[in-house]
Amino acid sequence: MFTTLSSPKVGLPRDLFGAIADLKRELNAVVLAHYYQDPDIQDVADYLGDSLGLSQQAAKTEADVIVFAGVHFMAETAKILNPNKLVLLPDLDAGCSLADSCPPDAFAQFKAKHPDHLVISYINCTADIKAMSDIICTSANAVSIVRQIPADQPIIFAPDRNLGKYVSEQTGREMVLWQGSCMVHETFSEKKMVQLKIQHPEAEVIAHPECEPAVLRHADYIGSTTALLNYCQKSSSESFIVATEAGILHQMQKAAPNKQFIAAPPVNNCACNECPHMRLNTLEKLYLAMKTRSPEITLPEQTRLAALRPIQRMLEMSI
Ligand code: SF4
Repeated sequence: MFTTLSSPKVGLPRDLFGAIADLKRELNAVVLAHYYQDPDIQDVADYLGDSLGLSQQAAKTEADVIVFAGVHFMAETAKILNPNKLVLLPDLDAGCSLADSCPPDAFAQFKAKHPDHLVISYINCTADIKAMSDIICTSANAVSIVRQIPADQPIIFAPDRNLGKYVSEQTGREMVLWQGSCMVHETFSEKKMVQLKIQHPEAEVIAHPECEPAVLRHADYIGSTTALLNYCQKSSSESFIVATEAGILHQMQKAAPNKQFIAAPPVNNCACNECPHMRLNTLEKLYLAMKTRSPEITLPEQTRLAALRPIQRMLEMSI
């Protein structure tokens, strides 16, 4: 039975979860989802992870079709690693403010001013920026990757200035930073964070390194999305103030149902600690993408090959 169509051609089944499971079998498809996706999408995912885990899964999947429930640069990374597979993104407009803060032309000029520098780029960037980079990193492995670079080798770190500053502090390495940032992680208010800590003195503050230094200095623990998820399970604390995209709270609550998770407050009383780009993907769009085999991610082969090299270096350096 079908309800009213959201697409002129394809109907939506009543049991979307069942229909997605059927399509997975029919297409030999795998659904990879980021922790920042809606809980319904998280629940249909075959693999749920942060950027590092998702790229590792994309590199080793045997599926013919990859349905990437995340943002554009993540699906692009899956395509770079799997040129012969069909890679679908439920909503092609699911972009990323951080990736957009590093336009390729401007970055090429910036790079040309530092010709002897090694370029390490956070995975949250476009394929064009990856193609201009020497090594890709994620928030989970950035510190370790920078530590593996010889001390006399100057480094450009792009595009996130907050992650770059954090990595610089952790490693003691001076790096030339591209001044990009994420609109979600820059939205957390230090003032409101302090008020929340006063209200919940027993809570530990855990934060993603994309947050601004003013927020990070209140954190008891700083780590990638997966590291935050693991930490809250291992810690003896019963409650946590979580400064990263609010979608991760669903997995934290599932993993530790008896603990309390409080989303760190944004500057305004809005939902701007939820990534508006990630939230463009919905369960309905995910179903329609599988049903219609579109929208598909495609890339010029020259760009793909140039972007592949620094991703492979990251995967080799993260073993
Ligand atoms: S949370 Fe920030 S970095 Fe992550 S996808 Fe959204 S805009 Fe990009």
